Amino acid sequence: MNPALDLIVLQRGWLSSNNIVIGDGEARAVVVDTGYCTHAAQTLSLLQTTLGKRQLGAILNTHLHSDHCGGNAQLMAHFQAPLLIPPGQFEAAHEWNEAKLSFRSTGQRCERFHPDQRLMPGSTVKLGDGLWHVLAAPGHDPDSIILFESNNGTLISADALWEHGFGIVFPELNGKSGFEEVEATLDLIASLPVALVIPGHGPTFADMPVAVAEARRRLQGFRLDPLRHARYAAKALLKFHMIEVRQQHLADLQSWLATTEVHEALWQRHFSPQTIEAWTLEILQDLQRSESISIVGGMILDR
Ligand SMILES: [Zn+2]
Repeated sequence: MNPALDLIVLQRGWLSSNNIVIGDGEARAVVVDTGYCTHAAQTLSLLQTTLGKRQLGAILNTHLHSDHCGGNAQLMAHFQAPLLIPPGQFEAAHEWNEAKLSFRSTGQRCERFHPDQRLMPGSTVKLGDGLWHVLAAPGHDPDSIILFESNNGTLISADALWEHGFGIVFPELNGKSGFEEVEATLDLIASLPVALVIPGHGPTFADMPVAVAEARRRLQGFRLDPLRHARYAAKALLKFHMIEVRQQHLADLQSWLATTEVHEALWQRHFSPQTIEAWTLEILQDLQRSESISIVGGMILDR
């Protein structure tokens, strides 16, 4: 029998990723992923409660999407803890190169932070009382890593695998390869002796093979019909924005979209026979049909 890990998952929603607190059973702990910037105060308060008297020894990010690293700045300032991130975006974050980071292109926000160390794929890192393998997990994000603790079979899967699916395959939105990488990452996960998956969003789950099978079916659907993935991505990005702003006039939403590179690129690549306004309205109506938002007069409301 392996001793159980000292690990607590702070399950958040979609705007903020889950935060995973891994302790050493004694005085120290680390946290993996820090939520969205508008929730930073809440993340800090949740973490303070979870830590109690323990010290926070490090902050880690699985990848640099705004919903996974938006609390970095506030947590680092409060706890004076070093930040470990995947190597692929280390330089971009160090220089805060907005053209290379994802925040500007997705129209999302993130307070600037300074990374300290690289989480190198292929290496192992001691987190709390466990030894975790750092594994490259491209697909959703080319630079994402996932973390696996083999003694207990615990996998921190970020947005590479959720109980039902996986995150938007961002490289595909810009005409780069992503679906193949998603498949390779699912193959990697399927090869691991996983007993518990802690995803980036949603509850933890035990049945990895069932989740991988569902993810493979979803991937196959996207591959056969890339428009389906493009529409899913547009809806997910719009919904994310609506969760952030809660409500917005259609005209203001349209002007936010006009400056959001990913949305523009999606329209350009797949839907440009329509005007961007008409296409956006179609996406909003889709979201209304699935009861994800309401359109009342000229107002869009999150629900
Ligand atoms: Zn992500």
